[in-house]
Amino acid sequence: MKKSPVWHPFTQHGLNEPVPLVTHAEGAALHTADGRRVIDAISSWWVTTHGHGNPRIVAAIRDQAEKLDQLIFAGWTHEPAETVARDLVAMMPRPLDHVFFSDSGSTSVEVAIKMALGHFANRGEPRHRIIVMQGSYHGDTIGGMSVGARGVFNRSYAPLLFDVDTIPFPEGANEYRALDALEQLCAQSPLPAAMIVEPLVLGAGGMKMYPPGVLRAMREICAAHGVLFIADEVMTGWGRTGTLLACEQAAVVPDLLCLSKGLTGGSLPLAVTMATSEIFESHRSKDRSKMFFHSSSYTANPIACAAAAANLAIWREEPVLERVAHLAHRQRSYSRALAGKVNNLRQLGTIVAMEVEAPQGAYLSVLGPRLMSFFRERNVLLRPLGNTVYVMPPYCISDEDLARVYAVIGEALEA
Ligand SMILES: *Cc1c(COP(=O)(O)O)cnc(C)c1O
Repeated sequence: MKKSPVWHPFTQHGLNEPVPLVTHAEGAALHTADGRRVIDAISSWWVTTHGHGNPRIVAAIRDQAEKLDQLIFAGWTHEPAETVARDLVAMMPRPLDHVFFSDSGSTSVEVAIKMALGHFANRGEPRHRIIVMQGSYHGDTIGGMSVGARGVFNRSYAPLLFDVDTIPFPEGANEYRALDALEQLCAQSPLPAAMIVEPLVLGAGGMKMYPPGVLRAMREICAAHGVLFIADEVMTGWGRTGTLLACEQAAVVPDLLCLSKGLTGGSLPLAVTMATSEIFESHRSKDRSKMFFHSSSYTANPIACAAAAANLAIWREEPVLERVAHLAHRQRSYSRALAGKVNNLRQLGTIVAMEVEAPQGAYLSVLGPRLMSFFRERNVLLRPLGNTVYVMPPYCISDEDLARVYAVIGEALEA
């Protein structure tokens, strides 16, 4: 076959691993050019919530494309963006009353960090320190990498990344150490501007889970010290953890909330950063130098906004949380068969994760790719993080497909 000029993300082209060509998809199934039906067990990298090709979202995209395809968003507006902003404010907790659009999870994080710093700068008390949790992931832009875990993925860029203050991952006995560290960092001069966290689950960091009580305690410590709390719900939002937001389970309302992935049901790229009135007001002034200096060409693209508006209507009008609860229940019963064969089997909402032991002779670093090709050969899309295998399907996956996913994981453990 002729070599493709496409340079894929997170892909080592030197290994010549197969890159399947997908022609169409529906629900939880991908169809390849060579006629295979592949079960999408990770929701096309955590974005697809209701399933591929949701008819209401597809119709909204089609209608909007015929009306208004794109519009400058600095000083101009359109109905799909107004609808999405209004509906988000109604749906998300108060006082997250302002909605800033961007294009991806990474940019929603960049925006949140810039808003936090701008907030303090505009009040004449500049702050620049950011507190993060060990092992977090917040995107692949320079700012996103800076507030995320350091490792082989960003070693080449390390000198350009800005310094952050890191608290330990709050696991078991480390809970108190993590909260103590946060308490100290919050009080340390110069004062921090913000803390950014992935609520309840560290996604790319290996689906590590921590209790709602810790999230709640972190939020309270930050509030007590006037440190802004940024919740990156890019992965955890839209029902993934069993509730609309993971923060709900800890009764936490952040100062800044990042949403993307499932915002359009996983159909088109779009993100928002929601902010409190306090943060909006610190940028509002007769002084142009205090405006929020951020934009990208496709900010609030009308077609993407129409897809998001359709997703929000689905959330309002259809029993999405019941589907989520049903999937969580099914995940629990299917994964039970693996208990005892894997380590640290855990679940939060629709996410199930486990560690598999490397067989004799296999290095940990080759285990993930070996598992991935094992699954691919059996027409299941799973993409382990090292030796962590996780299942995060679209909410519409059938019993038959879900059973097949767990059967294939079981086969991998035997092999
Ligand atoms: C995926 C992800 C991001 C980055 O989102 P992109 O759309 O890939 O830029 C940021 N934060 C978290 C928690 C994520 O899971």
